Amino acid sequence: MGLILRATCTCGLALSVAQGFGFDPSRYSWPVHCEKCAEVTAVNLLAQRPRCGRCGSTRITPYGRTTTPKDWASFVEENQIDLTEGRHFCPSCQQQTLRFMFEGVFD
Ligand SMILES: [Zn+2]
Ligand SMILES: [Zn+2]
Repeated sequence: MGLILRATCTCGLALSVAQGFGFDPSRYSWPVHCEKCAEVTAVNLLAQRPRCGRCGSTRITPYGRTTTPKDWASFVEENQIDLTEGRHFCPSCQQQTLRFMFEGVFD
């Protein structure tokens, strides 16, 4: 299960990313931006070598405060508020104007 977050920016960027959690670690995912394809996407940060699901690059930066999660539950707890309250880097316009909002949940 998980949350669906809507990423929007003043430049017009608008997309949904899944933030997974629950009992299946292979489905853990967290919003990141990829340096290579300049996209917002979601990846499993606990994977051996987290990479962008679109282009396969490892040059990804997770949104939020912590960049090296050790434990998923504490990572989500530490970063959730920062993620949805703060303004973040937008790979499309290169400004700190990206915002995340809750859109829904999935099973
Ligand atoms: Zn990419
Ligand atoms: Zn933007």
